[in-house]
Amino acid sequence: MQSSLIGKIQKAHLYAQEPERVEVVEFTAKFRGDHDSYKLTYREGQWTCTCGFNPLWGVCSHVMATQRLMGPIGPGEQGWLAMEDNTARA
Ligand SMILES: [Zn+2]
Repeated sequence: MQSSLIGKIQKAHLYAQEPERVEVVEFTAKFRGDHDSYKLTYREGQWTCTCGFNPLWGVCSHVMATQRLMGPIGPGEQGWLAMEDNTARA
């Protein structure tokens, strides 16, 4: 392997330890739920989902799951994470 590529891989490992370097600006995904597939979008600081729950509550299980999967770079309000953890412990 080229030494310049090895250097990039090493740099990537270091960068990956600093998630604050990455800000998700836009994101779209298709989410395959139990009953249907939904389109998720994060744009201009807002998550939207084509499911019926999201417009009523501003969040839904599909957005929550995607934020969780995105880990430390998951954008948007994540206050529900603490609620979910409390719920899981209860
Ligand atoms: Zn949804």
